[in-house]
Amino acid sequence: MPRITLVLGDITAEEADAVVNAANSSLLGGGGVDGAIHRRGGPEILAACEDLRRSHYGKGLATGRAVATTAGRLPAEHVIHTVGPVWSRDEDRSELLASCYRESLRIADELGARSVAFPAISTGIYGWPMDDGARIAVETVRSVRTEVEEVRFVLFDERAYAAFAAAVDA
Ligand code: ADP
Repeated sequence: MPRITLVLGDITAEEADAVVNAANSSLLGGGGVDGAIHRRGGPEILAACEDLRRSHYGKGLATGRAVATTAGRLPAEHVIHTVGPVWSRDEDRSELLASCYRESLRIADELGARSVAFPAISTGIYGWPMDDGARIAVETVRSVRTEVEEVRFVLFDERAYAAFAAAVDA
């Protein structure tokens, strides 16, 4: 089981073997974490995403899946793009959110990454309630078999940090 650490900050500044992007299925950029990663990482990341669209994901990357690219100018080595589910009142999409964490760690293992930084996937533009998103993130990371030694959750504000701290202690 990886060691879990919590950090308050901006994921684009993290030095880790891989940072995870809360992408959308187009892989071509968006707001929130996605916008910040492309802005700060430079055009190399977008070019790699465009190549992936052409070569493997003509219809886009499915929700719950993950794929890696260069990290461009970011201090990290790799970016792992994963597509979180949009939160729904009518349908339980928890398994898809868990899949984002599991699949990202599977890709991290393929890359030989030992440290992986995650944002709180789906809890921004995609509307997932923070406490529940934190619980799913922590439970899933704890249940996965992986060679990753450190999973760092990089939380953007105090509220997110408090939710993850509570989930770790639960
Ligand atoms: P999603 O579309 O999956 O909801 P967002 O990027 O909108 O993704 O938000 C996911 C979470 O990441 C939110 O809690 C948001 O506050 C946070 N966030 C936004 N920008 C950053 C950043 N630069 N670093 C870390 N977390 C961020």
